[in-house]
Amino acid sequence: MPKCDLKTKYIPAVLAWAVLLSTTFVFFYYPCQYYVSRFPWVPAYQGVITFFVIANFTLASFMDPGVIPKALPDEDREDEFRAPLYKNADINGITVRMKWCVTCKFYRPPRCSHCSVCNQCIEKMDHHCPWVNSCIGRRNYRFFFFFLISLSIHMLSIFTLCLIFVLHNKERLAQVDVIVALVLIAIIIVLAIPVFGLTGFHMVLVSRGRTTNEQVTGKFKGGYNPFSQGCWHNCCYTLCGPQYPSLMKPHKYAARRSNKENQMISTITSDGQARGGGGGQGASGAGSLQQQQQHLYERDNRHTQVKTYTDHGNGHGMRSGGTTQYSK
Ligand SMILES: [Zn+2]
Ligand SMILES: [Zn+2]
Repeated sequence: MPKCDLKTKYIPAVLAWAVLLSTTFVFFYYPCQYYVSRFPWVPAYQGVITFFVIANFTLASFMDPGVIPKALPDEDREDEFRAPLYKNADINGITVRMKWCVTCKFYRPPRCSHCSVCNQCIEKMDHHCPWVNSCIGRRNYRFFFFFLISLSIHMLSIFTLCLIFVLHNKERLAQVDVIVALVLIAIIIVLAIPVFGLTGFHMVLVSRGRTTNEQVTGKFKGGYNPFSQGCWHNCCYTLCGPQYPSLMKPHKYAARRSNKENQMISTITSDGQARGGGGGQGASGAGSLQQQQQHLYERDNRHTQVKTYTDHGNGHGMRSGGTTQYSK
């Protein structure tokens, strides 16, 4: 990426943070003082909303959106020249095409897309958001959505509170706090259409189980979306579904696994004895001697386990290990 792009890349995000923090601070410093003695719950309520806005904005901005690490150079050596450009996956009776990513060197799982700005493949890619300066994908979409909802509530309530404040202080329009309230009202009016519009758009997407990318490119023009589980389940899945582990830090999650699961990993990855098990790769297929050896292997190699995991498998099968439901 050229140097100028690198600098301009941060401008929208810095602008978004500056507008959010400065307008919120000015609100609490001026018009909000009017409510402190009369209605103390107003600043408390607004404080909670502000916390949600900033927390979700931070998580959406700095969390791993679901990056799939690029393949190691030796991972795809086996079928480098013979491999087709596409592979098909059957999802709920619909054939979904998985394209070979030339940059990352693997077949992109369904709903995964390569972001040209981040130069990485993102799981369940929604879009690249310049205001957040990050991709919005499988891991951070929820926080992005919560951010939009809380920001809309934040803007609506500040607008209402400033309007009430101005109406109650009509006789002193030249005072600083009233002018500040009027400026805040003007800023909110300008930002209302894009923010509320985007929030409404994402509410529709969540209820229909689609991503922005799929909506914009007209993926389900035929009407049937194989990833949708019905309006209610789509909403529940987005709002309170599982939080997927980051593939960028597999060691963090590998360390958390139970011993039983650790054995399963070492069964697949270890050389010699364990691999000699042939087809019986599952944990149940291991004999007691083999288990002992695995245990020793696991103890000795705990710190290199993840590396072994990626080194010994054949490239694509290994990679889809992280996203089992997409692999076949
Ligand atoms: Zn890619
Ligand atoms: Zn991106």
